[in-house]
Amino acid sequence: MAVMKIYIRTFGCQMNEADTEIVKAVLKSHNFEFVEEVEAADVVLLNTCSVRENANRKVFGYIHEIKRINKTALMGVLGCMASDLKNNLIQDPKLKIDFIAGPDSYKKLPQIIEQVMEKDEKYGHFDLSEFETYEDIYPLRKQGVNAWVAIMRGCNNFCSYCIVPYTRGRERSRSLQSVVREIEQLVADGYKQITLLGQNVNSYKYEDYNFVDLLKAVSDIKGLKRIRFVSPHPKDFSLDLIKLMAKRENICNAIHLPLQAGSTQVLKRMNRTYTKQEYLELVNKIKKIIPEIVINTDIIVGFCGETEEDFEDTLEVVKKVEFDSAYIFKYSVRSGTFAAKKYVDDVSEEVKTRRIVKLNAIQKRISLKKHKEQIGSIEEVLIERKGTKKSKTDWQGRDEGNRLVIFSDGNYNIGELVKVKIEEATANVVKGEGCEDIF
Ligand code: SF4
Repeated sequence: MAVMKIYIRTFGCQMNEADTEIVKAVLKSHNFEFVEEVEAADVVLLNTCSVRENANRKVFGYIHEIKRINKTALMGVLGCMASDLKNNLIQDPKLKIDFIAGPDSYKKLPQIIEQVMEKDEKYGHFDLSEFETYEDIYPLRKQGVNAWVAIMRGCNNFCSYCIVPYTRGRERSRSLQSVVREIEQLVADGYKQITLLGQNVNSYKYEDYNFVDLLKAVSDIKGLKRIRFVSPHPKDFSLDLIKLMAKRENICNAIHLPLQAGSTQVLKRMNRTYTKQEYLELVNKIKKIIPEIVINTDIIVGFCGETEEDFEDTLEVVKKVEFDSAYIFKYSVRSGTFAAKKYVDDVSEEVKTRRIVKLNAIQKRISLKKHKEQIGSIEEVLIERKGTKKSKTDWQGRDEGNRLVIFSDGNYNIGELVKVKIEEATANVVKGEGCEDIF
């Protein structure tokens, strides 16, 4: 068979980006090639997200657009949408999808594509596995500064608003040895930072090893400058983990700690398994042991049954914790979830909008205050790219807290760790001047 050209587009979260790197590695080992333009492709793969109802609509719109540009390419849908909608996707005559493959079916892709080509038949594989971790695949990454390393897949938590446990299946973790081997190779390939990835990254469990054991082993790898991890669940954030973060230089003092809601009643309906008090106590413990910690979060406003009082609880937590930044969303029903079946989406759009506007304004003030506190400090910045919207010669990078830092012209290289003196701050970014010494 002639070499097939693949165009692949990724939607959604970082886990999907990491999965695309696995898909590429699988296909490359079977002599497929990748192209950057849809027009040049024999096969178009869409690695989809299904977390929100409108994520599906976005993909449907994109499929129609692709069909206009390239009428002959085979169309394959991968990821959460394949797992969620299953054969309904390939049976929809308007979409003209040739095959689908769920998140645990990527090793079968070369055979699926060949079979669809040869037999001219539609094909779907979307069974979820209790074991597949892809630990034997070395992902095909774009060269960069940070490498994402998926250490576990799936989720057992069943938050009531979330579709992920249904589309990605149960939790399973890679062997500690396979993670360490992959990261040693990444360091040898020049990566300075790795981010451990998992739906519940700190629920990692392989044989007798837990997340702290894994993090220790990763932190011991020589030459690895920075380690991050996303997303931890508050319920699994142990004291041992906090102490390890405080002790190890190369584990960044930055945490993305999803709050979702500040009201204990709402948290209960969300099935988050912690209370307002427990969340606040966890944050206090973290701040006591790591005073310089940077904490970011996710919040949903207007979840089913959220009263003004409940919303006030969220405001209170936000003010007490003083998150460095927050991703704030309005609740929207996701069909197939527990909340969609059992609760009523009874907070009006108008109220959701009022609450999100208020919360965003408060968070913006806090982010600005926290950024201003950095003025005058010298931060270690890992350079990610040259050029900003305003200047071609300025540099962009991230400090240990994962804050975006822009600094002026200088003789640097992408991937270097440099000292930057912070001189200005907005709610989204801090700006400064590069210092001479390189770490
Ligand atoms: S922890 Fe909750 S929000 Fe996160 S993936 Fe699992 S069910 Fe979804």
